[in-house]
Amino acid sequence: MPKTTMQRRYEYDKEAIKFYNSKAWETCRHIRLKRDFYLCQECLRQNKITVYDVVHHIKPYKDYPELALDVDNLISLCHSCHGKAESNVGGMNRRINIFEFEGNQEIF
Ligand SMILES: [Zn+2]
Ligand SMILES: [Zn+2]
Repeated sequence: MPKTTMQRRYEYDKEAIKFYNSKAWETCRHIRLKRDFYLCQECLRQNKITVYDVVHHIKPYKDYPELALDVDNLISLCHSCHGKAESNVGGMNRRINIFEFEGNQEIF
C-alpha cells in the first residue's frame, strides 16, 4: 500500500529531529559559525553588523538531504534575514524552520 502524505511527513519529521540533534550537525554548524564570525551574512552584505540567530541551509535539507552537512551549503543569518531566506524558498519549509530555531539555541 502506498504511504499517505501524513505518514511520509511523520517519517520526515522524525528524521529531521534526529538530524538537528546529531553531533555531526552541531559540528558543521560550528564550523560555519566560526567562518561567518557569528554574524548574519546577509546583514553583513548590507554593511550591518548583526549577531546570527540561526544557521540556515541554502539548499533546503528537505530537498537536498545530501547537502545537509555541506558547510558551503550553510549560512549564518539573523531572524529577520532568515525569514526572508525561507520565504524565497517557497514557504514549504515552515516545519524545518522550527527545527532550525530549536536546534540553534545557544548562550553566548
Ligand atoms: Zn540579517
Ligand atoms: Zn532556514
